[in-house]
Amino acid sequence: MRYSGLRVIKEALTGHKGWTPAWRDPDPQSQYDYVIIGGGGHGLATAYYLAKEFGQKKIAVLEKGWIGGGNVGRNTTIIRSNYLLDGNEPFYEFSLKLWEGLEQDFNYNAMVSQRGILNLIHTDAQRDAFIRRGNAMFLNGADAELLTTRQIKERYPFLNTNDARFPIKGGLAQHRGGTVRHDAVAWGYARGADSRGVDIIQNCEVTGFRRENGKVVGVETSRGYIGAGKVGCAVAGSSSRLMSKVDMRLPMESHVLQAFVSEGLKPVMPGVVTFGAGHFYCSQSDKGGLVFGGDIDGYNTYAQRGNLPVVEDVCEGGMAIFPAFGRARLLRMWGGVMDMSMDGSPIIDRTHIDGLYFNGGWCYGGFKATPASGFCFAHLLAKDTPHPTAKAYRFDRFEKGLMIDEKGMGAQPNLH
Ligand SMILES: Cc1cc2nc3c(=O)[nH]c(=O)nc-3n(C[C@H](O)[C@H](O)[C@H](O)COP(=O)(O)OP(=O)(O)OC[C@H]3O[C@@H](n4cnc5c(N)ncnc54)[C@H](O)[C@@H]3O)c2cc1C
Repeated sequence: MRYSGLRVIKEALTGHKGWTPAWRDPDPQSQYDYVIIGGGGHGLATAYYLAKEFGQKKIAVLEKGWIGGGNVGRNTTIIRSNYLLDGNEPFYEFSLKLWEGLEQDFNYNAMVSQRGILNLIHTDAQRDAFIRRGNAMFLNGADAELLTTRQIKERYPFLNTNDARFPIKGGLAQHRGGTVRHDAVAWGYARGADSRGVDIIQNCEVTGFRRENGKVVGVETSRGYIGAGKVGCAVAGSSSRLMSKVDMRLPMESHVLQAFVSEGLKPVMPGVVTFGAGHFYCSQSDKGGLVFGGDIDGYNTYAQRGNLPVVEDVCEGGMAIFPAFGRARLLRMWGGVMDMSMDGSPIIDRTHIDGLYFNGGWCYGGFKATPASGFCFAHLLAKDTPHPTAKAYRFDRFEKGLMIDEKGMGAQPNLH
């Protein structure tokens, strides 16, 4: 069924009896050409592009819980392509271009809103670094604009530019950045994949891998054994747990990151603002809630919940630049488990085991990567060669010393 304005009108006039479920609920088959583990944004996008762009058939996505229950439905919804390094910027710009046409592509309203993102500048050194980043963005076909404090104040009058602990000296804006309704992304990809014949199997946890002559030939699951020509793993914060089942130790740690939503307010935040010095980022949802976050909790965990010290830390960060927000009440908060890689950049690569492919290490920036990650992982699975924009995302970069240390902060999750 195609969704459209006309369809909504027709259904409204006929008692909404014609809507069908957005995707099927099939039982697993005994054998697939491709099994994708993880029904998050990346796994669903991979299946969607495998079917749509690479003409592959007999694909299943296995999800241990429900679609959208992981980080794809827990993030702060920010999309952007304001990266510096060659290994990253072309990939994230590719992703932003896919976001721009995504709703038409998968025929689903994901509320893609290019309301702009602004990174605040607090020191002269930071301005130099941001000018360099802006130039790198231009070189890769992205948009960037350096704004003065006065220009920023016109757009964000509530920002404390007078007596803040970290005075605001300007900002780097990317007007094509913005927000996307996160769980609609999962639903849109699920629906798009399902309509192309992909089996999306929920409540199906992968508990092990079956190997024959060194090659992975299928997966053991809570719903029985499922054979596969190729297996792609896209389980985000559970990556190290899943890959330990084939004795792989990853250059990754799992950490919790929290997100917060305030009560609904009248429009105060036209775009996304990030405050690097205090690590606070904020936007306003269409319902009026301030959606914000900050640092990871800082200890290894697989629990999808955080602790109070970070709540205080994030709120302090917010108060440092938006003191007026201190009058808003916090409505809800939650945590997600992220796969923090050691250089802050992801991996989309074959493993050393035949038939087994890996996608992970997205840290707290993987939502914006969802379309390109799915596209590039599908490319790798279908063609056995990396997509040109993702060719730096190899396992062996850690062995060869070719880290993609975007912020130059060092090989430690809490530093990047
Ligand atoms: C609070 C928070 C805020 C964030 N904010 C942003 C942001 O603003 N912008 C941004 O770009 N990124 C952000 N991120 C990061 C982003 O959400 C993640 O990097 C990205 O969603 C991870 O990919 P995914 O969607 O595939 O993960 P998930 O949705 O977590 O998907 C992985 C799936 O694998 C399933 N799974 C795990 N183990 C198994 C198994 N053994 N068998 C079967 N299934 C399994 C899980 O149940 C899960 O559904 C944020 C993350 C969090 C937690």
